[in-house]
Amino acid sequence: MDSSIPPEPQNFAIPIQKPYRGRFAPSPSGALHFGSLVAATGSYLEARHQQGRWLVRMEDLDTARCSSLHSDDILFTLDALGFQWDGEVLKQSERKDIYREAFEALRLKGQLYPCACSRKEIADSTHFGGAEQIYPGTCRNGIKKGRSPRSHRIRVNDALIRFNDLLQGSVHQQLSHSVGDFVIQRADGFYAYQLTVVVDDAFQGITDVVRGSDLLDSTARQIYLQKQLHFVTPRYAHLPVVVNHQGEKLSKQTLAPALNKKNGALELFKALQFLGQNPPQSLMNAPVSTLWDWAIPHWERHKVPKQPALFIESTN
Ligand code: GLU
Repeated sequence: MDSSIPPEPQNFAIPIQKPYRGRFAPSPSGALHFGSLVAATGSYLEARHQQGRWLVRMEDLDTARCSSLHSDDILFTLDALGFQWDGEVLKQSERKDIYREAFEALRLKGQLYPCACSRKEIADSTHFGGAEQIYPGTCRNGIKKGRSPRSHRIRVNDALIRFNDLLQGSVHQQLSHSVGDFVIQRADGFYAYQLTVVVDDAFQGITDVVRGSDLLDSTARQIYLQKQLHFVTPRYAHLPVVVNHQGEKLSKQTLAPALNKKNGALELFKALQFLGQNPPQSLMNAPVSTLWDWAIPHWERHKVPKQPALFIESTN
């Protein structure tokens, strides 16, 4: 992934799609933490500042990691923090048939193939592209005798995928060099995030994806899938992610503390500061509704720090 070169081609700019439809798509594998609040706040403000709609989708397909208790808790927290979403919350766990259709469409086009490799075998045989392992294509031309299929992968090509991230700038990635053929259906049978996110962004008519820059590296894969499935590519803006003292992204794995619901307004105030919005100190103890009344008209995307990751001293 490189965000520095080359000049943009003529047709590079993505036409403005109206009306604006943004979304927040948490995976309910734990409580909301400050990092997820930053993503929710950035996407909400970007949408509401443009009088757009803002949808919530629960990416709860992986039932081993996600639960309805966490989903409910996330929605409760969002509500307590004054977020107002449009329409029903879409639940990926209820949409397996839709993902199967997309999977079949790709399979019928001859784009998919079964793969017998385990994670360990891939790790042993792979070279690394950036932070990602590159799949070496072991099963591309068929599975070796005596092996059984585990997952399904999609063939990628040598095309350079470019997009203009509204925060991170011009980005390009050649999937064959930095990712390789990637997984569409996992060994545990679940459809992969890359497929479901693309199907649902299209289904929900999302025009703008605003999310953490930990997902910047997934975007080229998603654009590739959108092209294969004839979906429109939304605009993308990748916010800085919040990192802890060790430089690790706040997440359930890095034991990020849950948001303090009792003092949601302060958490929101800090999220606005993190996003470079400079709320007046007089709003420090204001209720969430007052904070939103200030933040929505005052939102300035260009003030969001451009770094992919930023440290914050304390989130409690
Ligand atoms: N469900 C993903 C996560 O919680 C976010 C997906 C997305 O915004 O594209 O990290």
